[in-house]
Amino acid sequence: MSTTAEYLKKLIRTVPDFPSPGILFRDITTLLKDADGLRKGVGVMLAPFAGADLDLIVGIESRGFILAAPMALQRGCGLVLIRKPGKLPAATVRQEYQLEYGSDAVEIHRDAISPGQRVLLVDDVLATGGTMAAAQQLVAGLGGQVEGISFLVELLALKGRQRLGSCRVESAIQYE
Ligand code: AMP
Repeated sequence: MSTTAEYLKKLIRTVPDFPSPGILFRDITTLLKDADGLRKGVGVMLAPFAGADLDLIVGIESRGFILAAPMALQRGCGLVLIRKPGKLPAATVRQEYQLEYGSDAVEIHRDAISPGQRVLLVDDVLATGGTMAAAQQLVAGLGGQVEGISFLVELLALKGRQRLGSCRVESAIQYE
């Protein structure tokens, strides 16, 4: 990892057995509260896509929103939300997925993405990849083109990127 990645990694707190026994929870709130860490984290997540043509940044509930919003502002893109079921007020499409702990579903507004729009997907942590694979399907289902996926943290042991196909997947910080 780069010096910046090592610096960012030191700002992340690891909480054992949360939210259930055996899970090592990578808590990004300690990075978010550090002004320099937040700025650098967003910068590292955007850097690999500096040359990409992007129309939209799509963030995943809820910690993905926190990172996606400043990324959209920095890139001059619109922001689209993928949310847990029942949260979005207008007509939605839904995709079920398996989580590292449990199962869930995600939804997007039917009119959130127009066919052909170029999208960067964003979340805080890549674990099993189930959430992001579902998000990819939602975007593709609306005709959006996924230009890449950016995570702050990747949990390498869970091999989540294998579920994300040939799409360009980047992470700022990795854990074995
Ligand atoms: P997954 O679908 O398994 O890739 O899980 C990704 C989602 O679950 C992300 O939105 C993370 O916020 C959260 N998550 C899963 N595992 C962890 C973990 N060990 N530490 C922090 N967040 C996690």
